[in-house]
Amino acid sequence: MPGRNFLFVPGPTNVPERILRAMDRAMEDHRSSAFPELATGLFRDLKKIFKTTTGQAFIFPATGTGGWEAALVNTLSPGDRVVAPRYGQFSHLWIDLAQRHGLRVDIIDVEWGEGAPVDRIHELLAQDTQHEIKGLLIVHNETATGVTSDVAAVRKAMDAASHPALLYVDGVSSIGSIDFRMDEWNVDLAITGSQKGLMLPAGLGIVCASPKAFAAREHAKCPRVFFDFGDMTRANTSGYFPYTPSLPLLYGLRESLAMMAEEGLENVFARHHRLAEGVRAAVRAWRLKLCAKAPQWYSDTVSAILVPEGKSGADVIDVAFRRYNLALGAGLARLAGKLFRIGHVGDLNELMLLGAIAGAEMAMRDVGIKIEAGSGVAAAAEYYRSTATPLAARAAAPLSPDALQPPPAGKTTSPRVAARA
Ligand code: PLP
Repeated sequence: MPGRNFLFVPGPTNVPERILRAMDRAMEDHRSSAFPELATGLFRDLKKIFKTTTGQAFIFPATGTGGWEAALVNTLSPGDRVVAPRYGQFSHLWIDLAQRHGLRVDIIDVEWGEGAPVDRIHELLAQDTQHEIKGLLIVHNETATGVTSDVAAVRKAMDAASHPALLYVDGVSSIGSIDFRMDEWNVDLAITGSQKGLMLPAGLGIVCASPKAFAAREHAKCPRVFFDFGDMTRANTSGYFPYTPSLPLLYGLRESLAMMAEEGLENVFARHHRLAEGVRAAVRAWRLKLCAKAPQWYSDTVSAILVPEGKSGADVIDVAFRRYNLALGAGLARLAGKLFRIGHVGDLNELMLLGAIAGAEMAMRDVGIKIEAGSGVAAAAEYYRSTATPLAARAAAPLSPDALQPPPAGKTTSPRVAARA
């Protein structure tokens, strides 16, 4: 099909040209004396994405699932009790992984469309006076339902119960696109993958561990080899990896971090919020509902849109793909057929979103869903138009004060960063 494929699944996301170019290079010796410059810069700059100064970032050649596993096996022992609310397919899969490692999981089932139930978490922890519970597993942004949970409130609930459990947070579809504050929220293990907010292909599982999490390693008896924090740390300290790293992905990650530094992390979050608001305006104009039950749960990286009774979300997705070259996200597990998802994460702008909204609208009409032609596009376009930054202001906007540090001079293709360095 001519023209670009419109990739609007919530990961993998569009890989910007700059990152593609940065990854397109000859292989080199990952044990050379020059290599640590690349690796140490990544460890340093990744911390800024997690908003931590005390945490330690680990980069595994893996995916988000590998990150889940690394976080658990380095800090827990078979038979340990952990608590995990379940409100979508990804929280479900993480629980399954924990159980297969022999952990005892107290599952708090929550209606899909809501997020982490702070009161119930508090109640459970407060009852555990013997501190048998070793960890709490929270999916910050449940990609299956388009629900974002309030991690700060979860931390408050833990503190109110004076409970010492480790706080594990899956930030696979939030970190780098929705505000995440590892230190402020006292998160012990934060996990992400490369193929969402970081705008890279899949292939990196990134975990950040607090000093408390790192210390838990000493007593954790879950078997681990590939994901061992100890082996990683010994090699990472001097800027190397214990096994062959994926060089293209590491160079891509450096470019991705540079791009986020130039835009400014807070601006990245604001852009995601604004793009998401446009999609939500379209959904309202279509008179459809989001799977997320209330605004407090709305996700800025993915909208899961319920189709009317008797219609199939899978048909919408198939028609969008075959006729309009638009990839929308499917309904997962119990939500299969009930909805379709528009991912609005990563390297995107208003007009790209308008293309996706137009394609979704056309596909919905093609399968007989009664929505007014052009209604969603008009609502989103008006929202984007009325909230656009004036052109002059956009051109003159200073870099955000807490923008990430760029990589060393000469290592970036950006004239703005090169000029500052
Ligand atoms: N957690 C969340 C919230 C996700 O959205 C995903 C994947 O989409 C995962 C975990 C699993 O990540 P991966 O597919 O990279 O293993």
